[in-house]
Amino acid sequence: MLSANNIDRKSWIKYDSNSDFPIQNIPFGVFKTNNHEFHIATIIGKTIISLKNLEKEGYFNEIELNKNTFQGKSLNQLLKQKKPIWRAVRNKIADLFDLENKNSEAQIKSENILFNKENVEMIMPVQIGDYTDFYSSKDHATNVGKMFRDPENALLPNWLHIPVGYHGRSSSIVISGTPVKRPKGQILPKESSKPIYSESKLLDFELEMGFITGEANKLGENINIENAEDYIFGLCLFNDWSARDIQKWEYVPLGPFLGKSFNSSMSPWIVTLDALEHFRVSGETQSPEVLDYLKFNGKKNYDIQLEVLIKSTKSEATSVSKSNFKYMYWNMAQQLAHHTINGCNVNAGDLMASGTISGPKKSEFGSMLELSWAGKETICLNNGEERKFLKNGDTVIMRGYAKKENLRIGFGELSNTIIE
Ligand code: CA
Repeated sequence: MLSANNIDRKSWIKYDSNSDFPIQNIPFGVFKTNNHEFHIATIIGKTIISLKNLEKEGYFNEIELNKNTFQGKSLNQLLKQKKPIWRAVRNKIADLFDLENKNSEAQIKSENILFNKENVEMIMPVQIGDYTDFYSSKDHATNVGKMFRDPENALLPNWLHIPVGYHGRSSSIVISGTPVKRPKGQILPKESSKPIYSESKLLDFELEMGFITGEANKLGENINIENAEDYIFGLCLFNDWSARDIQKWEYVPLGPFLGKSFNSSMSPWIVTLDALEHFRVSGETQSPEVLDYLKFNGKKNYDIQLEVLIKSTKSEATSVSKSNFKYMYWNMAQQLAHHTINGCNVNAGDLMASGTISGPKKSEFGSMLELSWAGKETICLNNGEERKFLKNGDTVIMRGYAKKENLRIGFGELSNTIIE
């Protein structure tokens, strides 16, 4: 069923062996041309392929796609259809661009289908309905617990039983490349009992991955964990920017609010869960035993290497963290099963983020808060500049890819610069 994943397949579009986007990837995104035309698209190597025009030319006629699935400005029409349709589209694209398919090469090259990466602008691929942020990395939750509560009892009593999460704000999710404005708000100065109005002085990134859902469950019903992955379309890199000082003062008792909702950013290409099939791994054994609705079979974690780099106005990009999506304690299927166990409905185009993904080693911590241990330690950039948190002009770059033998499935880059 996943013929698109065939590792022996080669494309008539040429690309480097270290490209994030080989013919086995086929992610989905949306771009805008200079004359403001919108195209739903995929990418092979550096060549962007208009699915809008492929659909217009009739290449998807044999698939039971809803009419005009690719004529809009977002992937939502595709997301409303089911996984077998998503698979059929990806398989069809793989066939069209297969090296063996000389007929389609000649025909496609004569049509307005291929675009150069340099000539288009990637835009938000999904009209996001609801956004939920989880807190599913044990190392991250432990680090935060050690810093702010009790080092001996770093995890709160619920953490090993529940994939903890909160409802975020979808309106402020932006695409890679969009400047991030340093937020202002209420901050409680050290040793003071009165807050002040100030710009955030403790601006941070959070290294996360997000997943985009299809049409899942009706209100009042829940998603069974065994089927949960059927409702996951694909994943992106996600930077859940955080103003630690605003967050610290506001979060009691209802949780994150304005310290989070000023901005989150996502990478432009949604890599399908299907494309990551070769990279399934087992997560950490969960102990204590979880409740029945959270029990699952098989490998539900994914081995995806993640990296964060900081580039200042004066320095080249410095790698500050290398983590991995496989470190998640709670997997995506568990997150969806838990999210809906009360009957909460998940719709096509919702985004669920993992929470900061930290690994066990210091070099694998997924936020400045942890890397600088709440400002006690210093992070050095390549040119000797020092950071505890982020400064205006800093660009935070996130990259991610899965690799096994000769197959590399990547996410491209998520890059945003902080402005005043
Ligand atoms: Ca977060």
